[in-house]
Amino acid sequence: MVDIALSRREGRELDTATEATVINHYDPIRSDPDAFVHSCLFVEWLLRTITGSEPSHPMFHLIRGVLDNFAAGAPFWPVLCSGIEKALRLSGFAMEVDRCTRCGCDPRKSSLWDALSGGIVCESCGSGSSEEIPQGLIVFLRKSRNSRLDEVRNLKLWHGGYRQCFDLMRRFAEVHMETKINLKSLAVLEALENDR
Ligand SMILES: [Zn+2]
Repeated sequence: MVDIALSRREGRELDTATEATVINHYDPIRSDPDAFVHSCLFVEWLLRTITGSEPSHPMFHLIRGVLDNFAAGAPFWPVLCSGIEKALRLSGFAMEVDRCTRCGCDPRKSSLWDALSGGIVCESCGSGSSEEIPQGLIVFLRKSRNSRLDEVRNLKLWHGGYRQCFDLMRRFAEVHMETKINLKSLAVLEALENDR
């Protein structure tokens, strides 16, 4: 992770780097293929979903928090999914998990999800475009919203649950950002997991 200072002269379109300092080499990540590929996937997600060039301190702290947790070792999936959930919120694409996205009521125990309308829908509003998702994903998203990464890292889902969570967030982001999010690191991660 590098701290870089940029300056831009009036009328120019390119920045000039005036200073760069390494904050952390993250050796534990670079020496562990699992930690490394999860880090690549998180960073690649940010590269695909964040636009603009303004510095953002909350985003900087989030990236550092995610990498710090990856450097501390497994488990990686809860931190990855929570990091993505937090990044979506910081970039203005929060998923709604507390109120029905169609009528605004308390969705109670509903596990109906509608990416297009922005998240959870109550049982009376559920219709063609909503899908039933595991209740555990909603519980996880709520916890992620209110907890630090080091608290989230100990949350367990069923086998394959975090991958479902990741796919849910990817579909959500694709709908709202109106773009396909292709992630090369995901294929590497799958190959690594299938090799076990
Ligand atoms: Zn409703």
